[in-house]
Amino acid sequence: MYIKRNPKNYCVFTSNYPFIDNDGYTALCCKNSHHKLPYHIKEHKLSDIWKSPEMLAVREQFGTGKKVEGCDKCYDPEAQGVRSFRTKMLGQLNAQNGIVPFLDDEIKALDLRIGNICNLSCTMCYSGNSNRIYQQIPKMAEHFGWSQGKVDAEIEKYHARNYDWSNDPQAWDNIISGIDKNLLHCYLAGGEPFYLTHFSETVRRIGSVAPDARFVINTNGTRLLREKDLKQYDGLNIFIRLSVDGWGKADEWTRQETVWEEKLAVMDQYYDKFDLKVWDITVNPFSVRTAPKLIEYLFNRYPKSSVQIRPVVNKHELLMENIPAHFKQDALDYFKQYVVSDMRQSKLVGVDHVISEMEKPFNDSNYRKQLVTKFVDYYDKNGSVKLNDFDPELADWIYS
Ligand code: SF4
Repeated sequence: MYIKRNPKNYCVFTSNYPFIDNDGYTALCCKNSHHKLPYHIKEHKLSDIWKSPEMLAVREQFGTGKKVEGCDKCYDPEAQGVRSFRTKMLGQLNAQNGIVPFLDDEIKALDLRIGNICNLSCTMCYSGNSNRIYQQIPKMAEHFGWSQGKVDAEIEKYHARNYDWSNDPQAWDNIISGIDKNLLHCYLAGGEPFYLTHFSETVRRIGSVAPDARFVINTNGTRLLREKDLKQYDGLNIFIRLSVDGWGKADEWTRQETVWEEKLAVMDQYYDKFDLKVWDITVNPFSVRTAPKLIEYLFNRYPKSSVQIRPVVNKHELLMENIPAHFKQDALDYFKQYVVSDMRQSKLVGVDHVISEMEKPFNDSNYRKQLVTKFVDYYDKNGSVKLNDFDPELADWIYS
């Protein structure tokens, strides 16, 4: 039976946009942690994974309007009238046509998370996307009182041997044999892509199969590149998404091990040398109060780039509901200026989702407060910056 597709009975990821996670396994997308498929990219061709029984079943579920497990990250915002991850990404991919589903199940884009090699240990990340966090497991275990069983499980699960797929030529053969010149888009994130060995050669190889593909590299913007490194990307359609999550010390606290003054120099370099498409801001309750200053800076200094913003939604310690409303009010008022009738036209893309998270009632349970205080305390003790250094008022409340 032919089912007419619409953005609600279709997901661009499960039909056209395969996702390979940092550990080399395929999943539905980066938001859905319930559906991990039993196929590792070192061992299976992407083209076979794409027509596997699991993928066919999920497409069928979407097509017939059944709820797909783990997709609440899209269903919930859609129910609130907010654009979901799947509709945003479809809009990006099919930009000329708007939010209109593709009618076939051909691979048109790749979302590749290429391991966990990273130079930072960000507060919203975990060992699976940063080997720096992996190195902190003993310290975290002591601070958070993890059982030995949990420590052993983390050490085994996130061991380097389980996150090395992007160093394996067979894995790349398995991906590249599944794409052709119709590939529109290739999203590359880590870890930190610019710290991977053979990164530029790999991008060139995909580009030789799909010369029109747009490569979107998600970087933490901390590595100043040498001229000879920059030259390796000449002739490719490289777009940069650079993550910056707060102003100054707020970014240093959120993205632990960042040095703000050095990052500003990298931001200038990437803006000048690449097509820096998007500043990617992920706000949490500890950085959000600095976000308006950051956004004004980005708008003024880098007028050719857009700014996308989103809230943390997958880590309880970093939810907007964790702090009382009055702390967020000024930032909320600022964000509301960017609400327009068609949110695709907003200068601050994604701000509707941030607002809806910020307007959720304050979670004033003791349990949540203790969880959050312990979390802040860990990063205050182990990083070079404390919450008190950039937001003493909020720090006073956290530790009260
Ligand atoms: S969570 Fe959203 S983007 Fe991911 S598979 Fe489900 S509907 Fe698609």
